[in-house]
Amino acid sequence: MAFLELRGVSKRYDTVTALQDVSIAVESGEFFTLLGPSGCGKTTLLRTIAGFIKQDGGEVLVSGSSVDRLPPHRRDTGMVFQDYAIFPHMSVAQNVAFGLRNRRVARGDIGELVAGALQTVRLSDHESRMPHELSGGQQQRVGLARAMVIRPQVLLMDEPLSNLDAKLRIELREDIRDIQHGLGITTIYVTHDQEEALVVSDRICIMSQGKIEQIGTPWAVYKQPETRFVASFVGRMNFMDHLPEEVTSEAAISGIEGAQDIQAYLKHVASGSVVAAIRPEDVLIVQAGDLPPAQALKVSATVKKVSFTGREAEYFVQVPKDIGLAVHVTRPTETLVAAAGAAVTLALPFSSLLFFDAGTGKRD
Ligand code: ATP
Repeated sequence: MAFLELRGVSKRYDTVTALQDVSIAVESGEFFTLLGPSGCGKTTLLRTIAGFIKQDGGEVLVSGSSVDRLPPHRRDTGMVFQDYAIFPHMSVAQNVAFGLRNRRVARGDIGELVAGALQTVRLSDHESRMPHELSGGQQQRVGLARAMVIRPQVLLMDEPLSNLDAKLRIELREDIRDIQHGLGITTIYVTHDQEEALVVSDRICIMSQGKIEQIGTPWAVYKQPETRFVASFVGRMNFMDHLPEEVTSEAAISGIEGAQDIQAYLKHVASGSVVAAIRPEDVLIVQAGDLPPAQALKVSATVKKVSFTGREAEYFVQVPKDIGLAVHVTRPTETLVAAAGAAVTLALPFSSLLFFDAGTGKRD
């Protein structure tokens, strides 16, 4: 039995459907992330779990029992907000102790619990400071300590890093993941940042317009996206609404195992009912003297643009029929970096190509 379960949860605000028949099952100790663009219903879902929002339909269950009739303060959840929401007139230690006092924890135990929580978030030296004497990242650590110290059954985090600068975001997301793993608190985490979701999560639930698009491990949602939306939202993806004839020709696919099936498939793509997709890092630029991989479609292309960043290079290339592709190369060679305007051959490994139904957007 899943620890936290939502069954067919729906919520409407006047004309807006914020959640539509959402069902998820989160395991005990899991780091579960709700990921999606602004307005897709992430916050509504999180606040429904916390009890701040009452859903129109469906159930929320913890350990198999419905919590729908419980008010927020009886749901045993800890919440970390985007804007820290710590009390400005209380010191760090008082902020962290607040929830414990509210829960009538014995006075003698409070000091030890607060010290432990501050140590976990690496703020032991700052317990007497006031919030205005802390950086944004430190304030959010206080928010995290305050939510954790009550040892909630479920920790809910609503975009906790979005007010921090890029460097701090990266630092704190590692901390959050390590702390969560260390404590084993079941966590529901909201973000619209796909990279953050990939780094911190055990599983990711990708949402669009109030509906679930896919639930899976970071690896699964990146490598095996089930819909065109997921493929485009998580990481970068090249989509080809049609393929150049050159790719579908006998010559391009001869030598590929199962060539006949592939030929049939590519005709399907050429008919316009299927969209082909490939990640920029999966496209290979075949250089003079290289043997192109046998299991790949070959296509000639022109390099339109090269951005060299030292460790890697981004190319924008054009293949026949005006199809533009981004190509990501790690450890680029000097010849390749100087390739703007050059004619090159691309290899698209068949195993890296994904196909989506042009109408429904589902993986074909
Ligand atoms: P963001 O990343 O911008 O916070 P979100 O994915 O968390 O977005 P929600 O805040 O859950 O999205 O909102 C889902 C939809 O419901 C949006 O279209 C939003 O405009 C709408 N909505 C949310 N709260 C209300 C409300 N109180 N009244 C009316 N509409 C609302």
